[in-house]
Amino acid sequence: MKIVKYYFVIQKVMKDATTGRQYSLETAAVHGGNQIDEATGAVNVPIYQTSTYKQDGLGRNRGFEYSRTGNPTRKVLEDLVADLEGGRHGFAFASGMAAINTVLSLFRSGDRILISRNVYGGTYRILDKVFSNFGFNYTILKSEDAADLERAFSPDVKALIIESPANPLMTVTDIRRFSNMAHEHGAVVIVDNTFMTPYLQRPLELGADIVVHSGTKYLGGHSDLVAGLAVVNDDAIAERLAFLQNATGGILQPFDSFLLIRGIKTLPVRMDRHVSNAERIAGYLLSSPDVSKVYYPGLDSDPGHEICFKQARNGGAMLSFELSEGHDLNRFFESLNLISLAESLGGAESLICHPSSMTHASIPPEIRKTIGISEGLIRLSPGIEAVEDIIDDLEHALKESRR
Ligand SMILES: *Cc1c(COP(=O)(O)O)cnc(C)c1O
Repeated sequence: MKIVKYYFVIQKVMKDATTGRQYSLETAAVHGGNQIDEATGAVNVPIYQTSTYKQDGLGRNRGFEYSRTGNPTRKVLEDLVADLEGGRHGFAFASGMAAINTVLSLFRSGDRILISRNVYGGTYRILDKVFSNFGFNYTILKSEDAADLERAFSPDVKALIIESPANPLMTVTDIRRFSNMAHEHGAVVIVDNTFMTPYLQRPLELGADIVVHSGTKYLGGHSDLVAGLAVVNDDAIAERLAFLQNATGGILQPFDSFLLIRGIKTLPVRMDRHVSNAERIAGYLLSSPDVSKVYYPGLDSDPGHEICFKQARNGGAMLSFELSEGHDLNRFFESLNLISLAESLGGAESLICHPSSMTHASIPPEIRKTIGISEGLIRLSPGIEAVEDIIDDLEHALKESRR
């Protein structure tokens, strides 16, 4: 038997400022960011729907001047996500891409950014179609192998962007190892932790410098808002990010900040169900003759399993699979009743998508092929419904898809 050293420890993540008592992540999800409203004692954060704040005199304000720069509802969310990720500074943006856009604005023309080969399609697109116009360069890593990372470094490399597990093949990267290597080359490590959330994986503890999120997915958890987040520990990076957040203005609105705080309260209980559903579904798909391949790091047989379980609580809740020969992809999607064909993931309802025509359509076909995204690949985000009902729906559609 192989001995795996688990370095994901369920720690006390939040300290009560008055009592000094330490709380676990499950408690921090409910109370993090100090959600009691000082003025009224309301146990939920009010939605401070205001653009500006009356000042008591010249140069004297009560901590807020203008809502692009800061808003009390957004501030609670920013402190909450920082508590959860174990960082000192949180930032909330209008979308995951607004967060990534702002983080990329830390760099300058001539800099090179290394990206995981299965990076989110939008991250690839903003580098390829937007930042390339400003003299940024990027290199897609060949694999999740440390040797390939080592070869990719050149003096102009200033950042490494990784996702683990990465979309849509759920490839796992050793965050601690890659962070150490990047730091030896003076590069900043950015981890997109959208797929795992801080409940399952905490990249700052593994050595990352910046964590980014699409809050649209599991953190929001109800497919009812679009939001982005960034968390850092380093005060100098935080100061620059705060400057950029205010200067470029892609902030999250007060109502959406409130919705995201509300969603995060139930993150741990929702994730437990998402993950147990994913584990059961992966087992079912693996045993189905209608399915030729299952990609899920929660399976012992998955190549990323061991590293994933070293750095995360479990294999997460996202999985992908391919239909066996002689199955019709369109018939499969059209035969689903419960599971919705839709972009996005992490909602209470099960969502399914076709990466090559949907989430990864912005990646040219030749590149898609080299990174293993086949035309027949299907990505599933199991919701929190009864797992038997999700499996019944899949079973029915798989049967219908036989030609
Ligand atoms: C959805 C997603 C994003 C982009 O977030 P938006 O909120 O849609 O802008 C970035 N990274 C990952 C991994 C995502 O799934």
